[in-house]
Amino acid sequence: MFSRLKDDCCVSCGHYVPEGRMVCLNCENDKPVSKKQIHSDICQELNVIYAKKNHDYGDSFANLRDELPDAILVRIYDKYSRLKTLMNGHERQVMDESIEDTLRDLANYCIMELVERKVSQ
Ligand SMILES: [Zn+2]
Repeated sequence: MFSRLKDDCCVSCGHYVPEGRMVCLNCENDKPVSKKQIHSDICQELNVIYAKKNHDYGDSFANLRDELPDAILVRIYDKYSRLKTLMNGHERQVMDESIEDTLRDLANYCIMELVERKVSQ
């Protein structure tokens, strides 16, 4: 029912939540209360994952991109294929965590491509 809420409404009760507020005044839900807030939290999370992976693996996406300028297409295709396999799996509930990890990777590759475009301008 609440999946079609406006971006700035509480995901628990549907009441309007002013930007940046972390607790709904109506139902006192203290989880991130609007889709906009959840989106912001996920973006923060993607940045933490990006920083950690780039530290662990070196700047491997940038290096690959030097060799293969369209590397992003291969990365997206790999993650898309993995996502398709996971989503078609029979034990989907067990796979939920992997599906979400794959979606994060996919989002981060798109952002990394934007970063590389910006630094190479
Ligand atoms: Zn609420």
